[in-house]
Amino acid sequence: MSFKKHIIATLILCMLLTSCQTTNPIASLSSDSDMLSTEQLPAEKDNITKEKVERKIYRATKDKQNDLLHTKLDISFNWELRHLLGEAQLTLRPYFYSTAKLLLDAKGFEIHQVAMVKKGEKIPLKYYYNGVQLEIELDTIYNRKQKYNIYINYTAKPDELVVHNPDIDFNDKGIYFINADGTIPNKPRQIWTQGETEAASCWFPTIDSPNERCTQETHITVADNFVTLSNGDLVESKKNENKTRTDIWKQTKPHAPYLFAVAVGEFAKVTDMWHNKAVEYYVEPEYEAHAEAIFGNTPEMLSFFSDLLDYEYPWQKYSQVAVRDFMSAAMENTTASFFFENVQKTERELLDENHEDVIAHELFHHWFGNLVTCESWSNLALNEAFATYGEYLWMAHKYGQEAADYHLNQDLKHYLSEAVTKQDAIIRFYYDDTEHLFDRHSYQKGARVLHLLRNEIGDEAFFLGLQKYVRTYAFKDTEIHHLRLIFEDITGKDLNPFFNQWFLNSGHPVLSIDYQYDTLKHEIFVNVEQIQNQDVIFHFPIEIDIYLNDSTVQRKQVNISEQTHTFRFFAEKRPKLVNFDAKKVLLGEKIDHKNVQEYIYQYQFAPLFLDRYEAVVTLSSYQKNSIDAYQTLIAAFDDSFWFIRQTALQKIKFQDENLSPKIIEKLKEIALNDDNARVRNTALYRLQELEKTDLIATFEKAVQDSSFVVSATALQSLYKLAPRKALQIAKSLENCKNNNIFNIVANIYAEIGDNKQQVYFENQLEKVDVLQRYTLIDYYKVFLNRSDDVVVETGLLALENVALHDANWWIRLHATQAIHNIKKRYTSKRNDLQAALAQTIIISNEKIEEINTNTANQEQIEELNTKINSMETLLEQIKDKETDQKVLKFYHNL
Ligand SMILES: [Zn+2]
Repeated sequence: MSFKKHIIATLILCMLLTSCQTTNPIASLSSDSDMLSTEQLPAEKDNITKEKVERKIYRATKDKQNDLLHTKLDISFNWELRHLLGEAQLTLRPYFYSTAKLLLDAKGFEIHQVAMVKKGEKIPLKYYYNGVQLEIELDTIYNRKQKYNIYINYTAKPDELVVHNPDIDFNDKGIYFINADGTIPNKPRQIWTQGETEAASCWFPTIDSPNERCTQETHITVADNFVTLSNGDLVESKKNENKTRTDIWKQTKPHAPYLFAVAVGEFAKVTDMWHNKAVEYYVEPEYEAHAEAIFGNTPEMLSFFSDLLDYEYPWQKYSQVAVRDFMSAAMENTTASFFFENVQKTERELLDENHEDVIAHELFHHWFGNLVTCESWSNLALNEAFATYGEYLWMAHKYGQEAADYHLNQDLKHYLSEAVTKQDAIIRFYYDDTEHLFDRHSYQKGARVLHLLRNEIGDEAFFLGLQKYVRTYAFKDTEIHHLRLIFEDITGKDLNPFFNQWFLNSGHPVLSIDYQYDTLKHEIFVNVEQIQNQDVIFHFPIEIDIYLNDSTVQRKQVNISEQTHTFRFFAEKRPKLVNFDAKKVLLGEKIDHKNVQEYIYQYQFAPLFLDRYEAVVTLSSYQKNSIDAYQTLIAAFDDSFWFIRQTALQKIKFQDENLSPKIIEKLKEIALNDDNARVRNTALYRLQELEKTDLIATFEKAVQDSSFVVSATALQSLYKLAPRKALQIAKSLENCKNNNIFNIVANIYAEIGDNKQQVYFENQLEKVDVLQRYTLIDYYKVFLNRSDDVVVETGLLALENVALHDANWWIRLHATQAIHNIKKRYTSKRNDLQAALAQTIIISNEKIEEINTNTANQEQIEELNTKINSMETLLEQIKDKETDQKVLKFYHNL
């Protein structure tokens, strides 16, 4: 699975927490530093608190009593009730010990029949079912050479799972019905499954454990307008009499139950080929023309990974499908990876953001995870660390070392940010909930540990090891020691210390490094101290490059194994630079006490992306006092790698004396011409800060940028300097669906649009997707709060409609909050008038003029009272009709 869990849930929560605050439309645009980045999602904070009270239960690998050999499913759906109607036929045999019992996982089912199938006949069997597991008494004792077939007729009720089984501490449903009753406009009806970790047994009876694997045949009956997707090949598709169709999918090579999958929807399918195997992209019809642009590198990835592992992609075909409301970025179901809907983008949107890292991640799982599977969730990193490292390997192959190093450095940052509040072993045998394992330890830290291992044993040994591991354990399950033994076998080294330190223990080193040069002895002293707040001392080798005065570079390898070390090296003269961790592989943090001149030298002469990045970041804090540091930052505007250019642009401080017209010209040139959209966008943000009207032409030009994000930033910048001009441009962009453009257009209309723009808000409320609808309600509220009564009346009708009928509870709530807010504005206006009236009556109740004014005010107060009353009535009606308890709780406080 890809680590981007609970995106929507987090978003909704953030929205609700801020929903009572004043809208800040600008803030809803991507902030500069975050722009285009999907990689950085916040650590799941609730994990931290939960893990403090974690029950310490040893999580043993599941015993194999019966071995599942084949699963045949015959399934159809009741959309109305959100039920799956299933018939399962399972072929099994005892794993080793003879038995007359079979224990299956089957969560939230209604069981209709359990039978032994012998010579085509079904012999009923005794069974006990507790809503979670099905214990079956076999007709006799079977030994490990005897296969038997079990038939189960059942209904899976995913949405009633917890209701009927209050003891289940379980959020997963296994199978999800999207817009089942079709009441949500502009949203497709879909069904899809999600097995990992143990939710496959929410839609079919199985032995729901990663150390089980079997072949699979899936018969899916759906209405003829739907497309289906499952594991393996579609071998037959037959139309039935009642306008339904049954598709038969066959997966001929065994895989674990959590990788079983079914998707049903009105997808468009684009087919590519690789080595005579179908490579398919399933998307919503509107993205059919863009499917190739989204997934088109898949065949090249298949070749790259097959060659790298010297093991050709082992499965029958490879399909990828985008589904609605998916709970993570993607899931590597065998031969049928599922992706969240955001993977779907037009070519123009792909300029700003693509999910190729996720595409590579899911594909690499087809070796690490699907072919060789972790035997228990404690060993999850054997799936996830590899899949995450696969992203890096692909990047290095396709986009070069610097792009890959940038990606790997992001991995380290993500892990370190999680490590502030959570430090655990990557391989964990004690945990409360398997969900907690899907963290930045299993993924990003795991990938960095593999990189460290590669650095320690060398590229050749590392890749030979991977090849041997895949070959040895194909179609088997492994624990971390299998991996260690493979690498020990290849290298002849005892790798227990490495595996113990990095996989089985927690934490990372924090190093303080400083340097001296003894001019008499001609010696360099490199002092290294481990200052992490732990009792553990880390052991690892590290490279130190010494840049000598004669422009040669000497590389030294040293071993860190104590809390403090002083390494001494000979150098005739004081060296230009001592570059600690010259290969930039350290899995940890460092406080490096180099001076400004050394960092400048590092920026200019050290070879790696991270050398320059570290230098730019450090020099930025000296730019005020060191003109050399400042000029190095300016020089970095022209760096060959985009992220360094962007960092330099972000870090440069505009001090009046430094703000020469030359720099402004440079920023303008970058904003319009840099080949990287993120860099152009950063330059625009920096120009925006200057608030100079002579930049209007630059912003106007940048609105035409090929990148939506850049275009939106340019329009936002223009709006600050020339609002009327921006309003005119906004009108030409009001039908653009892109979220960045949508936000700035709605923002401009909300703040300076006139009555004519009401049509826009009314139309958009019907058209936009759910997240945009949420934002739009905020903008509409701002617009209505500065509009006249007639416009407000129409607006209230639209908001009422959303508050009463929207399918999403949080959207209904948000519309109600908007009505409440408008009522508050009217109330305060009325209160002001009442106060003023009371004042004038006291001061001068004799003057005719004022009596007239007072009469007018009184009339206005009456009018306002009528409006306030009708809004109150409306709010009462909304409350009365609401049935969702969550929403009612909020209404209680309104
Ligand atoms: Zn994954």
